[in-house]
Amino acid sequence: MDIKTFTDVLKYPFVIIFDNANGNKLHKTSCSFVTEENFNLKMITNQGKNGYYSPKEYYEDIRDATVVPCKKCKPTQEK
Ligand SMILES: [Zn+2]
Repeated sequence: MDIKTFTDVLKYPFVIIFDNANGNKLHKTSCSFVTEENFNLKMITNQGKNGYYSPKEYYEDIRDATVVPCKKCKPTQEK
């Protein structure tokens, strides 16, 4: 999957934000924690060294045991 801009992320219903410092979290892309500012910091400024965004089309695709659902947006199978 080739994600270059924040707009690309918003095409998907879910996104995993991998973060070496704060842990890996699954969000709905509509979550207020999913921001262009944070995307640019992780993906462009830090070039993915400290974490990265991984958009997902389906909740069922998320099989990573290190990923925790966000407590704010509470992503579920329903979009
Ligand atoms: Zn969230």
